[in-house]
Amino acid sequence: MPTKTLIGPFTQLLPMSGLPVRGALKDAAITVIDQGGILISEGQILKVATFKNLLPEADEVQRIDQEVVGIPGLVDAHTHICFGGSRARDYALRNSGKTYLEIAKSGGGIWDTVLKTREATEAALVQGVVARSNKHLKLGVTTLEVKSGYGISVEEELKMLRAIKTAHAQTAADLIPTCLAAHIPPKDQPNSPGQYLQELSEKLLPQVKAEKLANRIDAFVEESAFSPKEIEPYFKTASAMGFDITVHADQFSTGGSAIAVKYNAISADHLEASATKEIELLAKSATIATALPGASLGLGCEFAPARKLLDAGAALAIASDHNPGSAPMGNLLAQASILGAFEKLSNAEVLAGITFRAAAALNLKDRGTLAKGKKADIVAFPTGNYQEITYHQGQLQPCAVWKNGIKVL
Ligand SMILES: [Zn+2]
Repeated sequence: MPTKTLIGPFTQLLPMSGLPVRGALKDAAITVIDQGGILISEGQILKVATFKNLLPEADEVQRIDQEVVGIPGLVDAHTHICFGGSRARDYALRNSGKTYLEIAKSGGGIWDTVLKTREATEAALVQGVVARSNKHLKLGVTTLEVKSGYGISVEEELKMLRAIKTAHAQTAADLIPTCLAAHIPPKDQPNSPGQYLQELSEKLLPQVKAEKLANRIDAFVEESAFSPKEIEPYFKTASAMGFDITVHADQFSTGGSAIAVKYNAISADHLEASATKEIELLAKSATIATALPGASLGLGCEFAPARKLLDAGAALAIASDHNPGSAPMGNLLAQASILGAFEKLSNAEVLAGITFRAAAALNLKDRGTLAKGKKADIVAFPTGNYQEITYHQGQLQPCAVWKNGIKVL
């Protein structure tokens, strides 16, 4: 018989289970188990109840002897942590008043990261992803999505995806890879954006499948990247090949969310420019709306209309967008807490957005809540009151993290 391990007692334990994926959530809807315990076996949760009630069933006990609040391991559903170089220069130029176009013309912007990422060896990329993943893990993030998208050629995108796959084996965090070859059109080819996308469909996607490098594809639908019309054939091909689709949508101009809904995207991310029409469309769809407050903080612009999305009935995930250009901070809890203050989100909505609703944004059904059969991914914060977690805006850091039942912090 496999060993049953009891972890606890947690002063407060928030399983975040039994809550809807869509719509507004009041804090009163959260179940709080006082002096809670989690019974686990072989990396999975068997039972969640009071510590006292589970004690007779346990073969061994991992006793916690301080005040802690336990919640599900955090899920960051949107990152670009595989990259070379730094964009500190862009940040300084932007803050000195230079426009996006001026920065791009002076050698900055996404293309700068593309060149630096191409220069980097696969081994150097692996090292960067592992280091950044471990940093996120210490902050309670047990699952991270990681995009390619700084290669912008078949070979260089494959290099990035292989690096992400190798990095996954070298960190305790789960890395969920996404192929973002359709990030921007290549600047070094005479081909039109449409021809580049066709090349991706014919040469890259079959290879991604063959090497099992990713089950998800992403595209940046924006005036500076790909138009809705340009991206449609690519989404059709990817969808027919069985890829899950996610979209960088409505960041500066609208159009992306409509195409996301049309192609049954799992998530539409950014949405800073979404207005009533887009909010209603997302609310009626099965697509998860993912807000990226880190990009708003990095660029100094509007947040996504999170309150309006929730009130309309949409599902809201919150992710860090950790990337070298617009979101270098890479602190999911800090950013989600700040979004909560600006958008008037309840603790329930913020925590749902970085746990089970974020898992839904990655189409993952085995995590995001503390319930029977789920992965034993758990974060403990050194406090006796869950309200302290968002109150400290990321400064209250986890005192313990378990990934698949193994204590990694
Ligand atoms: Zn992004």
